[in-house]
Amino acid sequence: MKRSKPWIKIGPDAATIIFFVLALLIIPGILPNNYWQSIFSITGIYVMLALGLNIVAGFTGLLDLAYIAFFGIGGYTFAFLCSSHFGIHLPFLIALPICALTAMVSGFLLGLTSIRLRGDYLAIVTLAFAQIFKLLLLNLDTPVNITGGVNGIYAFDMINIFSIKIVTPENYSTLIWTCALLVFIVSFRLKDSRIGRGWNAIREDELAANTIGINTTRMKLYSFASGALIAGFSGAVFASFQDSVFPNSFGFQQLVIVYCMVIIGGLGNIYGVIAGAVILSILPEILREYGGLRMMIYGAVLVSVMAIRPQGLFSVIPGFTKLTRRPDKDETGELRASTDLYYFQKNDKIDSIKFKKQATSLLKIQNLTLNFGGLKAIDDLDFSLHKNEILSIIGPNGAGKSTLFNIISGIYKSDQGKVIYKDLDISSYKPHMVAKSGIARTFQNLRLFNELSVIDNIKISRFCRTKSFFFSAILNLKLNKREEKETDEKAKTILSMFGERLTGYRYNQKVSQLSYANRRRVEIARAMATDPEILLLDEPSAGMNPQETEEITKFIKQLRDQYGVTILVIEHKLNLVKAVSDRVIVMDYGKKICEGSYDDVSKNPLVIEAYLGKKAKSEK
Ligand code: ADP
Ligand code: MG
Repeated sequence: MKRSKPWIKIGPDAATIIFFVLALLIIPGILPNNYWQSIFSITGIYVMLALGLNIVAGFTGLLDLAYIAFFGIGGYTFAFLCSSHFGIHLPFLIALPICALTAMVSGFLLGLTSIRLRGDYLAIVTLAFAQIFKLLLLNLDTPVNITGGVNGIYAFDMINIFSIKIVTPENYSTLIWTCALLVFIVSFRLKDSRIGRGWNAIREDELAANTIGINTTRMKLYSFASGALIAGFSGAVFASFQDSVFPNSFGFQQLVIVYCMVIIGGLGNIYGVIAGAVILSILPEILREYGGLRMMIYGAVLVSVMAIRPQGLFSVIPGFTKLTRRPDKDETGELRASTDLYYFQKNDKIDSIKFKKQATSLLKIQNLTLNFGGLKAIDDLDFSLHKNEILSIIGPNGAGKSTLFNIISGIYKSDQGKVIYKDLDISSYKPHMVAKSGIARTFQNLRLFNELSVIDNIKISRFCRTKSFFFSAILNLKLNKREEKETDEKAKTILSMFGERLTGYRYNQKVSQLSYANRRRVEIARAMATDPEILLLDEPSAGMNPQETEEITKFIKQLRDQYGVTILVIEHKLNLVKAVSDRVIVMDYGKKICEGSYDDVSKNPLVIEAYLGKKAKSEK
C-alpha cells in the first residue's frame, strides 16, 4: 500500500533553500540603499529571535514573557566583552557563544524557580523578571557604571572572523542571515526529533505526556533554556550590528512584536514564523510614510489577521501540506466501504494462545488508602495482579476505581499503603518513572494529543525508550538516525495491531478528526508503544457501540494471549468483563468487597446488592 509521508518529514524543502539562497547571496546585492540594507539585516535578527521564541511558546506552549530579557542579556554581555567599556576585547567568535551561554544559564536559573508554575502564573513571574532586568539596565550606572544607564553602551570592537573584517552593511547582512540559517536548521532538526515531540506532547496535554514517560518538568526547563540560548545569541548579533545597546531595545514593546510574529505565523510552525517575522519587520517600514497612522495600521492588520485566521496565517500552506483523506478505492481498485463499517479481519482468526495467567504476582497493592478531604476514595485496599493475567475491576460510579489507577500511575500519592511492582516499591514514583518502569495506562476521559497526527501520538510514546539528545538530534548523528527509524517502524507496527483501522492514510490524520472509537484505539496504541509489561485500561469500551465493543474485547484478549501483556481493566460492560477476565475484583466505597472468577463474583449477594442488582441475575 502506498503511504504518504507527513510534509514535515520532507526536510528543508526547495522553498526554504531558495529563500536562504536569496537572503544570503542575491538580496544584499540588489537593495537600493543602506537604509533598506539595514532593514534587511534587522529582519534576519527578527527571524532568529522569533524562531527561538517559537521553541518555547510554539513547540512547548509556555508563556515566557522573560524572553526579551534573554535577548538583552546576550546583547549586554556582548557589550561587556567586546568594547572599551570594561576594556575586555574578546574576539567575536569567542564572545558569541559566551553571550548565548550566559543567556541560557540565566534562563535555566529562572526556569528552575518558576517552571512548575502553569500558564498565567508562569507569565506573571517571567514578566516580573523582564521588568526587573530592564530596571537594572536603567539604574546600574551608579555608583559603579555597569550598564551605562539610559544611554547604554556603544562603540564595539570591529568584528574580525578569520581575518575577514565585517564592516559594510552587506557584510553584516551576510553574517546575520548565516546565523539565521543556523537557527533555522537547529529548530527544524529539534522539531522533528524525540525532543521536539516531547515538547509538543507537553503543549497538548502535560499530564498525558507525563504518564507516557516524559519528565515534563525537565523538558520544559530545557525548552526554556533553549529559547534563552537563541535569544542570547540573537542579542549578541544584534548588539554588534547596532554597535550599541540601550535598555529600550529590550522592553515590553519588543516582546510584543516578537510574540506577534510567532502568533501570526502560527505557533509551532517554523515556515510560518519565518514569514511572520519577515512581514512584521518590513510592514512598519512600508507604512513609514503614513507617519502617525503607521502603528495604528500595523495594529489593525494584526487584529484582522487574528480575527480571520486565529491559527496563524501560514498554518496550512497549500502545496506544503498534504491533506490526507480516506481513499475511495482500495489498492485493487475496488470501491471500499466506509472504514468504520469495515470489519476488523485480522482479529477474527484466533491464533494459538501463547500466554496464560501465571502464579507469580507482578503488582501488589498493599493497604492502600487515600482521602479527599473527608471522603475515603480508597479505603485499605489490598490485592495482587499476577503475571499475564487479565484482572477486571468493577464497581458503581465513585467506587474509587479511577483513583486507584491514578495512584498506581503516580498521579496521586496515597496517604497510606504501598504499590509494589516486581519487588520494587513504586509508591513514590512520579508518573514518568512509573511509565518508564513498565506500567502504561489509558484514561477514562480520553487524553490524547489532539492537534497532532495519529502517528505522532504513538511516536511520542517512544520518548522513554530512546536516548537521542540535543547534540545527536541537531547534528542527526547515527544514534538519532537509528532511533528515528526504529520509532517510525515501531509506531507503524503498533498501529497495525488494529488491522486497517489506523494505518495508511490515517497515519497523518489529526487525532481530533477521528471517530470516538478510533480515538480510544489510539489511546491504547499510545500506551502500548511504551513497551509496557502492565497495561491499565480505564473503561476501554466506554462510548463504543456493540460491534466496536466486541472488537475491543477480542483485542484486549489478544493483547494478553499473543503479546503477553498483563492487564488491569476497569469496565462497566459486563459482557466484556465476562469474556476477558481471569479474575474480577468488585469495589465499593473505596473497598474491595469481593474477588474471584466472574461467575463467583456475579453470584455473590454483596455484589448484587452493591452494584449488579437484578440485571446481574439475568446476565448469568
Ligand atoms: P470511579 O470508581 O467511578 O472511577 P473515582 O475513582 O473517579 O470513581 O472517584 C472516587 C471518588 O473520589 C468519587 O467520589 C470522586 O468524586 C472522588 N474524587 C476523585 N478524584 C478526586 C479529586 N481529585 N478530588 C476530590 N475528590 C475526588
Ligand atoms: Mg472512573
